[in-house]
Amino acid sequence: MRTQGQDEQAHHGAQGHKHNIGVQWHQCPHCDYKAKTNNQITRHKARKHNIGVQWHQCTHCDYKAKTNGQITVHKASVHNIGVRWKQCTECDFKAKTNGNLNQHITSHHASA
Ligand SMILES: [Zn+2]
Ligand SMILES: [Zn+2]
Ligand SMILES: [Zn+2]
Repeated sequence: MRTQGQDEQAHHGAQGHKHNIGVQWHQCPHCDYKAKTNNQITRHKARKHNIGVQWHQCTHCDYKAKTNGQITVHKASVHNIGVRWKQCTECDFKAKTNGNLNQHITSHHASA
């Protein structure tokens, strides 16, 4: 028995590189932004139009932010939570940033 020559099954995918010809552009309904994928539109909407954003809520006030990082910064500056205080070596003064501490040292302990 002879096996017949196998038909070459050409795998010509439907998505060739067609230089954006035939691309179904997804249009942002809120502005002129267009993207090739719906995913990009979703991200764009969140960034530009605040749509579908999973807000991070501050547990201590009404502040909301798009990223957890912003919440952390907010908590430190408004509620003094998670602040790594810089202690002045000359007195009891504490500062949130090195810059603040330096300012304090310059104005209070500076030796001319
Ligand atoms: Zn848009
Ligand atoms: Zn807050
Ligand atoms: Zn001091």
